[in-house]
Amino acid sequence: MKRSEVNRDNLSPMMQQYMEIKDEYENELLLYRLGDFYELFFEDALIASRELELTLTGRVAGLEERVPMCGVPHHTVKSYIEKLVSKGYRVAIVEQLEDPKTAKGMVKRGVVDVFSKGTIADADLLNAKESSCISSLLLFDEVIVMCILDLSTSYLATLTIPNALDKLVNEIHNYNIKEVVVKSDFDKSIINILKTNYGIEISYNDLFIEDKYATLINKINDIRIKMGVKHLFYYVDHKILKDLSYITDIDYINRNLYLEMDIHTIRNLELTETVRLKDRMYSLIWLIDKCKTAMGSRKLKLWLLNPLKDKEKIYERYDKIEKLNNEFILKDELKKALFEIYDLERLTGKTINGALNPRDLIQLKKSLEVLPQIKEICQKLNFNYNINTHQNIYDILEKALIEDAPISLKEGGIIKDGYNQELDEIKSIRSGGKEFIAQFEEKIKNQTGIKNLKIGYNKVFGYYIEVSKGQKNLVKEEFKWERRQTLTNGERYISPELKEKEAMILNAEEKINNLEYDLFMEIKEIIKKEIVNIKNTADIISELDCLVALAVCSEEYNLIRPNLNMEHVVEIKNGRHPVVEIVNKKEYVPNDCILNKGINTLLITGPNMSGKSTFMRQLAIMSILAQMGSFVPATSANLPIFDKIFTRIGASDDLVSGESTFMVEMKEAKNAILNATSDSLILFDELGRGTATYDGISLAQGILEYISENIHAITLFSTHYHELTHLEKKYPNIKNVHVSAIEENNSITFLHKVKNGAIDKSYGIHVARLAGMPDKLLNRATDILNNYEKKKNNNPHNEIQLSLDFTKDEKDDEIKTKLKDLDVLNISPIEALNILYELKKDIDKDN
Ligand code: ADP
Repeated sequence: MKRSEVNRDNLSPMMQQYMEIKDEYENELLLYRLGDFYELFFEDALIASRELELTLTGRVAGLEERVPMCGVPHHTVKSYIEKLVSKGYRVAIVEQLEDPKTAKGMVKRGVVDVFSKGTIADADLLNAKESSCISSLLLFDEVIVMCILDLSTSYLATLTIPNALDKLVNEIHNYNIKEVVVKSDFDKSIINILKTNYGIEISYNDLFIEDKYATLINKINDIRIKMGVKHLFYYVDHKILKDLSYITDIDYINRNLYLEMDIHTIRNLELTETVRLKDRMYSLIWLIDKCKTAMGSRKLKLWLLNPLKDKEKIYERYDKIEKLNNEFILKDELKKALFEIYDLERLTGKTINGALNPRDLIQLKKSLEVLPQIKEICQKLNFNYNINTHQNIYDILEKALIEDAPISLKEGGIIKDGYNQELDEIKSIRSGGKEFIAQFEEKIKNQTGIKNLKIGYNKVFGYYIEVSKGQKNLVKEEFKWERRQTLTNGERYISPELKEKEAMILNAEEKINNLEYDLFMEIKEIIKKEIVNIKNTADIISELDCLVALAVCSEEYNLIRPNLNMEHVVEIKNGRHPVVEIVNKKEYVPNDCILNKGINTLLITGPNMSGKSTFMRQLAIMSILAQMGSFVPATSANLPIFDKIFTRIGASDDLVSGESTFMVEMKEAKNAILNATSDSLILFDELGRGTATYDGISLAQGILEYISENIHAITLFSTHYHELTHLEKKYPNIKNVHVSAIEENNSITFLHKVKNGAIDKSYGIHVARLAGMPDKLLNRATDILNNYEKKKNNNPHNEIQLSLDFTKDEKDDEIKTKLKDLDVLNISPIEALNILYELKKDIDKDN
């Protein structure tokens, strides 16, 4: 049954109300609160039953057929919302908007919350270690203005990027943007790629918010950013129904302050997830994230993806790490204190936009409780943080909240005695009432002589007196009890006195719950006023957490403080790849890496599996760690401050689908060549192997020469083309190194040690043997190889493109000699034709 085809006049009033609301929310799955369930109807029900594996039922709604329906219990609704949203659906929640007891006619209902991929503000529905953002994208001539919002922490930022897909993808990855809001005329090809390749939710909006939020918007000078914020805010305010008035600041991101890395580099270096399994485990962030708080983890990831370029700022972080390591007792105290802190950032987000519950406030209280201690430790460490301990909020929470308050807001049990006089008074009435019941039971037992009577309570009759069957005859008319229920074992009665007290007790109960709810809301409002300050505190705490984590890493992984220079000097002694070192069972072989203005390019040869790409990645990872403010894995390190890192390592990425591996490889190389500067780091791993040998060698050489002559970037270039190693002679800035291996009895042992000079052997067959190829095949391959080698050695011009020479044939020389000896002017045409015929026959015979 289709919703659009239903005759609405026949529908029940409740269903008509549903239809009206659904008309406004065509694109959302409507979860409609009925009693203890959220129900979905029509097509929404079909989708939800399929996606959530729920039973599809039907509801009588005035039509001949029942309306398709399925539902989820209200107390578990969050997990269902999360599932639907992660599958790309939008969800709208419909609640009663008025109290059914006081409402006249149909209770008013309406949408109170909308969930989409990028606007979930409730910490319970989010991954604690990942930020989660929505961004508006507005196109102006050559640039895209991005306004990025994390609703779970009320963080708003803006940045302007060139109108290029790769740049956009980088930022989407950087800020974990889950949803973008665009105008309906936005570039469809970009939209398609974002949607299909990166799973980004696309939301369309052509409107801009007007006066609302003027205080924030008026602070912005750039008209384009103003428009971006208005565009984003219209969508979030009108379509997602979220209040944004607590966002008072905007962070202007200046990309120039940070080391630039594209998405390939981030992926190839496995900074946040591994290439193969796309898993956080065994990535660099997995290794270094020793944070005690979720907000620290999120910040550390941001630091890792945005290493700094300002030496002073980087050194500030080093100084703090050093201080923490020196003052290890204070560091341990700090670690313990940080462990007590909950996700303050997201608690503030929940206070504004989520369903804040009493447990959240207990978490807030516990977090605030350790702030004075953290403040004191910072003072002792001479860290210049201005930590606000929010004593006033703490005092209120401490005075008001019962420690084991329930999650539910409606059932009381939240507020402590002594916090509010009125509440205390009603509570004493209630407890007085309960005492009365106990005394009343005793009293009437004595008065009536019915020894085993009991006072009980149920929802239907309220308080009642229960008398067992055997003593029923002791109940007298004069008691004025009214019989209410007959049980197999006895009778239940009510009495006027009991009813009078019952009203008082039940009233008190309801009043208490209502008043506790109101008091909770009052406290929530007080906290809301402090949100900006709490956010500042959260920012400091997460920074401290990152620094402590890096200090812990430096000890645990034996890292050292690097020196940074502006002279393009790399001097690494015994450098290591931190993840390979920890994850691999084998002993890690440390390597030096020395480069400077004179020699800025290493041409790395060595067998497959010897450790060429590990050595290359090692330099990049060390530089990223150094520039994010971390110590590095080496015995000493002097590193340049890089402006950009480019890598072309490993399998190609799926950024532009439908292109060959080689095309993608060339595009990535082009990107590096066009954008790198002399301050950049370029890593090219076996560039050119995606095409035929000659093409590959020629391109690789061309690219190396171009970088050497025009860019002067620090470059590590690994290759299988031994022919390239002669470039060392031509370009003084290029140096050959190789990763060593030893060959014994047809087997190979990798030493993983980087040494000067080149090697001229590939050991491909040895590696194939290690891989378990059949012996017969390997023997044949060895024969073929020996044949090639022989021909190579017989050829006097075997300097470059050796493999070409292998195809030359002695036959060619024979033909050449014959032609050379021919006196063309002294032969007749028929003789010429005969000679030509013979030559052709010769060639044909050989083929
Ligand atoms: P290549 O790029 O030369 O094919 P890789 O860099 O991929 O080789 O290294 C292959 C494997 O060798 C790695 O997965 C790692 O286990 C090991 N390896 C590399 N470098 C080292 C090293 N310095 N010390 C110990 N093991 C290493």
